Amino acid sequence: MTTQQHISARPGAGTKKFVGPHVSSSGGVENAILNADALGASAFALYTRNQRQWFPKPLEESSIESFKTMLSEYGYQPKHILPHASYLINLGNPDPSMRAKSRHAFLDELQRCEILGLTMLNFHPGSHLNKISPEDCLSLIAEEMNLLIQKTKGVKLVIENTAGQGTNLGFRFEHLAYIIERIDEKQRVGVCIDTAHTLAAGYEIRTAEGYGAMWHDFDLIIGKQYLCGIHLNDSKKDLGSRVDRHAPIGEGVMGIGLFELVMNDPRLDDLPLILETPDETQWKSEIERLFELIEQ
Ligand SMILES: [Zn+2]
Ligand SMILES: [Zn+2]
Repeated sequence: MTTQQHISARPGAGTKKFVGPHVSSSGGVENAILNADALGASAFALYTRNQRQWFPKPLEESSIESFKTMLSEYGYQPKHILPHASYLINLGNPDPSMRAKSRHAFLDELQRCEILGLTMLNFHPGSHLNKISPEDCLSLIAEEMNLLIQKTKGVKLVIENTAGQGTNLGFRFEHLAYIIERIDEKQRVGVCIDTAHTLAAGYEIRTAEGYGAMWHDFDLIIGKQYLCGIHLNDSKKDLGSRVDRHAPIGEGVMGIGLFELVMNDPRLDDLPLILETPDETQWKSEIERLFELIEQ
């Protein structure tokens, strides 16, 4: 198949929306591309390393080459690929040695993205672990991000909003704005909005009014120029629960209305819309269903 044939075989080809799941990269990062293509995904997320290990082995030279070749062969653009950093990393860890460990692991992740030609790395800001104030924790995160930005080139550090479970920060737009204010090179920072986290954090996004108000706040508090991607998830937990439990599209408390709003929102054109839904056997049909929501 030619590149163009791969692209036009995918649901939503010719629209301005790019949708796909967080696919497995087991056996080599290049497998993520095959997995995404097999599902008809026009965007995807991946881990560039084993996310359960602090310091996994470096990428194989052959893997790097295959990844780059296949990316263009299958017609995927870096702007539609949103790698996710390891959940072990906590840039706001109050313990200096644990924070340094997180910094080293994050640097490794950024360098992997650089080598693969990827332009963004999505991560959860961090947790205060009840040892320091939220403000101090957010300041530490910004400090670490500045150091990491200095040591790397080109890759955007994309902060994800969280559900605010436990001592996780980043569940208020003000938290994200607080961090961004302290970043020296603002063109190196971005934001990813997770729909399940947003609802769990207390933003009512299921009605057209609530959805509009959320983006109004986003623009006012953070700034629309920072938006780099969306995690498109239904939620098992309700508004303001501060609990992070994703559900397949249409099977949680979200209702299909939110996804209709998203798929018809021109603000989200050309961004990676990533499914982190729990049942991978549904991914293909979830992608198809989402595109059916686009109004002609
Ligand atoms: Zn995440
Ligand atoms: Zn997410």
